[in-house]
Amino acid sequence: MSKVHNFSAGPGILPADVLKQASDACVNFENLNLSLLEISHRSKNYENVMDEARSIIKELFEVGDNYEVIYLGGGASLQFAMVPYNLLSENGTAAYLNTGVWSTKAIKEAKIIGNTKVIASSEDKNFNYIPKGYEIPTDADYFHITSNNTIFGTQMKSFPKTSIPLVCDMSSDIFSRKVNANDFSLIYAGAQKNMGPAGSTMVMVKKDALGKTGRKMLSMLDYQVHIKGGSMYNTPPVFPIYVTLLTLKWLKQNGGIAWIEKINQQKADCLYNEIDRNSLFVGTTAIEDRSHMNACFLTTKPELEVEFDKMWNDANISGIRGHRDVGGYRASLYNALPLESVNVLVDVMKAFENKFA
Ligand SMILES: *Cc1c(COP(=O)(O)O)cnc(C)c1O
Repeated sequence: MSKVHNFSAGPGILPADVLKQASDACVNFENLNLSLLEISHRSKNYENVMDEARSIIKELFEVGDNYEVIYLGGGASLQFAMVPYNLLSENGTAAYLNTGVWSTKAIKEAKIIGNTKVIASSEDKNFNYIPKGYEIPTDADYFHITSNNTIFGTQMKSFPKTSIPLVCDMSSDIFSRKVNANDFSLIYAGAQKNMGPAGSTMVMVKKDALGKTGRKMLSMLDYQVHIKGGSMYNTPPVFPIYVTLLTLKWLKQNGGIAWIEKINQQKADCLYNEIDRNSLFVGTTAIEDRSHMNACFLTTKPELEVEFDKMWNDANISGIRGHRDVGGYRASLYNALPLESVNVLVDVMKAFENKFA
């Protein structure tokens, strides 16, 4: 099998070792002579998986016992509804920062649950920057932000200081860099971009943020029910959670967040330097807000796109076609993507310029 350089935006690349361990577990899990897929989630072996999958999140985020971690199905998209359902009180207001497609969807759901205010938005420029200098209302129930905009390729380089609970959708850059998790009341992330396969979503929440809405809660949509059940109120997505655990252990064993942050910086520098240097490419976002996870760029001569497409295909590069809302190209540089793959892409961009500029 020749190596493919996988720049897919999501589901995204996973470490090769993790894929191997995950496939072994499908056949014979922990020498039980049973597949992970055919044992009870209440078995001792799986309970250990769940305990570890929950505790490793707190360890990587460096938070204490005032936080709880659960894994749920339904994707990050279900959290667009569960967040306001669990945090927005009947007479309260939720504040949102609109930085792209995902936050727009989160706002849509929140508006159905209760009073929702968009504090700032970058929609005026097709979300190619992160709004700054806005004021967060001090009487809102929470402020919701999206740390990285997977589709438009912008990323928050710092987080707002506020006295109200801060909620963050970190689906596409969780554990890619150091953040002060203690500044957040709730962090959620669908696993399939940067920490596992599709099928499970991680929610980490401060205990004291819950139980304040005055709402009569449906069980399956109530964080407290899932916390009380140890994330096993119902059958959890056992396999995606296991593979997420393997991926996070891979991260930890290799040097953790400090290690990956350095590599992610190198990958982003390498690609953006080339985008800026190369006369046939141009970046699509404000430079100071460029995402280290999803780099979006266009060719300055769109008539040459077919030529470029052929060249990167021949180099075994996969998944860099841009999202339909932006066009052009998007190279996703998630944790498991090696610097070597970025070097291959940059070499193709250089060769393209040499041939056509
Ligand atoms: C992909 C993505 C989502 C949606 O995730 P699903 O698991 O498909 O529901 C939400 N937010 C962000 C930032 C994303 O990148």
